[in-house]
Amino acid sequence: MNLNELTIVQARSGLDKKEFSAVELAAACLARIDERNPALNAFITVSHETALEEAKKADEQIARGQAGALTGIPFAVKDAICTQDTRSTGAATILSQYVPPFDATVIAKLRAEGAVLLGKNNCDAFGHGASNENSMYGPVKNPHDETRVAGGSSGGSAAAVADQMCVFAIGEDTGGSIRQPASFCGLVGLRPTYGRNSRYGIMPMASSLDTVGPLAKTVADAAILMEIMAGRDERDATTVPDAVPPYGEEIKKSVKGLRVGIPREYFEMEGIEEETKRIVLQKIESLKELGCTLREVSLPHTKYAIAVYYIIVPSEDSSNLARLDGIRYGTRTPAGSLYDTYARSRAEGFPEEVKRRLMIGTYALSAGYYDAYYRQAQKVRTLIAREFDAVFAQVDVLATPTSPFPAFKLGAKKDDVLAMYLADIFAVPASVAGIPGLSVPAGKTAAGLPVGLQLIGPRLGESAVLRAGHHLETTI
Ligand code: GLN
Repeated sequence: MNLNELTIVQARSGLDKKEFSAVELAAACLARIDERNPALNAFITVSHETALEEAKKADEQIARGQAGALTGIPFAVKDAICTQDTRSTGAATILSQYVPPFDATVIAKLRAEGAVLLGKNNCDAFGHGASNENSMYGPVKNPHDETRVAGGSSGGSAAAVADQMCVFAIGEDTGGSIRQPASFCGLVGLRPTYGRNSRYGIMPMASSLDTVGPLAKTVADAAILMEIMAGRDERDATTVPDAVPPYGEEIKKSVKGLRVGIPREYFEMEGIEEETKRIVLQKIESLKELGCTLREVSLPHTKYAIAVYYIIVPSEDSSNLARLDGIRYGTRTPAGSLYDTYARSRAEGFPEEVKRRLMIGTYALSAGYYDAYYRQAQKVRTLIAREFDAVFAQVDVLATPTSPFPAFKLGAKKDDVLAMYLADIFAVPASVAGIPGLSVPAGKTAAGLPVGLQLIGPRLGESAVLRAGHHLETTI
């Protein structure tokens, strides 16, 4: 096995036993990036020199017997997440020169444990998209089939991990952006409960939905990362004070007796591909063999989730992205008047999809329309959240497909905005409700494309979804 193919658990053990050095491990990942990134376009920035310097320091720490949980383990970060002294563009040219003077809290925590930053991953600009085709740095290709998308918006992070360019990556999920690319690339991806991980330093998209989480090769790796990242942060008032469970231990507990709900609506939805449905249902059956009890449940408000999401997200977007105007933040395109400078800077610095969201959001929030759109969407959002609460009185986790179909062809949905929005139909309900969702590999189609199974848990139910995912992954 090549060093770059190792999981966190394997890399930790090899480094601690001195079977290889952190410099060798980082060099193996960097060599893989050099070889494969020109084809896949998974990275916007690669930090060769600093990565090797960090790895050297990691080796010294290991030699002194002072290794942290991630000392010497190379990772990559979505470019919509701030990393100190490393350019963070959000995949939009308006921030092409932005070098943050600080790390996002979750990144600071991972680096405090010794993780080695390899570089920044391509993504849909500021997280807007489901195919990574809305990046101003070009689309990302799927390592399983380079004529297909890697998923979005954290597509570069998923492609980088799936193609063995790094050991793990950190992405952002507002409405599916970790789970959907994880499913398209055959990985594990967790969207945590809203407020479980700090959003400080994550470029905001829709502040009431944004979350940050891991893309990993195994559930055990994702559990390790969550244990490090989760927790209260005084810089993010929406983080919850609840103690962080020892996820790494929790996942090992038996799943015997775990009650798994299968929401009817997710399998009857128009547009779901038969092969995807069959693979996911087959994998769900294997939960029975593990001692779980399966039961059909109903979530009738599911059909409103996309409509609610595409009012709330553009509205919050239009407020959050207002600061990127070429004056306060972002690259300035000088024009004659102040107005023209604002207009030109934003016209040139944002891709089309971001502009679409800003226009919809500005409209939805405008006087006279706020009640009809934004407030109404928030009310339906509450109904969706309550419906999940009621179902979680009967079951411990829900099992659904992550996406209605596997990775689609590049260009297939790019000009069909509604079709692209509907790609997240199974990911968005949990987002709207603020609850956790884990995508784990369920199998592959006849054409060799990965299919993901989503486990949705109640608020702060990360342990339950990770545990079910871990057993699905290791026992079958
Ligand atoms: N595809 C969804 C959107 O475009 C999800 C994005 C995300 O989770 N960042 O809004």
